[in-house]
Amino acid sequence: MIYLDHAATTPVLPSAYEKMKPWLDGSMIGNPSSIHSAGKQAHMAVEDAREKVAKLIGAKPEEIIFTSGGTESDNLALQGVASSAHDGLWVFLSSGIEHHAILNQEALLRKKYGTALIQVKTMSDGTVDLEDLQLCLRIYGPELVSIMLANNETGVIQPMQEIAQLCERYGTLLHTDAVQAVGHIPVDVNRLGVDMLSLSGHKFGAPDGIGALYIRKEIQAGFHPVICGGGQEHGIRAGTENVAAIVGFGAAAEWALESMASEEIAYCGHRDAFVRAINAELGEEVRINGGGLQNILNITIPGVQSEALLLMMDANDVCISAASACSAGSPQPSHVLTAMGISGEDANCTVRISFGHTTTRNEVVKAAWLLAKNAKRIRSMYR
Ligand code: PLP
Repeated sequence: MIYLDHAATTPVLPSAYEKMKPWLDGSMIGNPSSIHSAGKQAHMAVEDAREKVAKLIGAKPEEIIFTSGGTESDNLALQGVASSAHDGLWVFLSSGIEHHAILNQEALLRKKYGTALIQVKTMSDGTVDLEDLQLCLRIYGPELVSIMLANNETGVIQPMQEIAQLCERYGTLLHTDAVQAVGHIPVDVNRLGVDMLSLSGHKFGAPDGIGALYIRKEIQAGFHPVICGGGQEHGIRAGTENVAAIVGFGAAAEWALESMASEEIAYCGHRDAFVRAINAELGEEVRINGGGLQNILNITIPGVQSEALLLMMDANDVCISAASACSAGSPQPSHVLTAMGISGEDANCTVRISFGHTTTRNEVVKAAWLLAKNAKRIRSMYR
């Protein structure tokens, strides 16, 4: 099988697996909250991983709250602030290109806290319109802005430092969903100027179901938990820690810091090879949308329905994605592409190819050739 859907999930790294194994086969045991020696060794393993994850994003270990993944981190960020906010109408500002883990909180936030969601305009290159952002900040005075760092469909990277400067000027907290960025490009919470940042392990070699929310130390005091129970994770996220997954997360973070630069060069080469191969077969008909993260390639082939293309690729044992994995199966065109001004028709003729640490150049070239061949076949069937 040729797996080119690493933005959906990527295989567990051998180094992460090795670290996790003793916690899964019973040779290591302990609840990090227990005060006996087994508990202490689990606590130490969790704290060691916390340091590694913190280092990956330039944070302090005590600013890392482990969660079950990107979705929970996004929920904790928005609902944690919403439930801590004082009375009155509470507004949060976001963009039309966010992941559903942000956008689909709207109804709950409105019902529970009376929150209004305002969406900032997106430009055709996939970045948010900074002038509109400034206008919205001035008019609506939101208490929180949440704008993703890198998009999961197009790989577009937002000008986060400029966004942070605007938020600081208007006294607004800033959260960023950095699930696709962390582990792939250098991320430093202080350089970016964000107050909260979501990350997820399974996007860079840790197992599924582990993630973290970075919360700047200064804002933790008034932060309300979403999951209540024991006092784990500074009382912000209750529940016994998933030690094996956390240890794997730490190992993946360590690997990402060491390998990010060389991985980016490899992805850049894969991307060029894929585009070259597909252009040679289909020429001008192909359009590349967005860009930024080298591991994500978003391609529109007008007149070729992505669902049909995906199924044909799958029959050839090649896994790619029609839009983000979380919205696959939905008949709606991608909200990300339509926010960029791409027509619904073209959005439905768009596929995402994403590379990871196991991807080889041979796989990339073979997949590009198969994609072109299948696209031609679909076209000939509808002519
Ligand atoms: N945010 C973005 C940008 C994502 O791409 C994803 C997953 O694809 C998520 C959030 C959700 O993360 P998780 O799968 O860890 O819940």
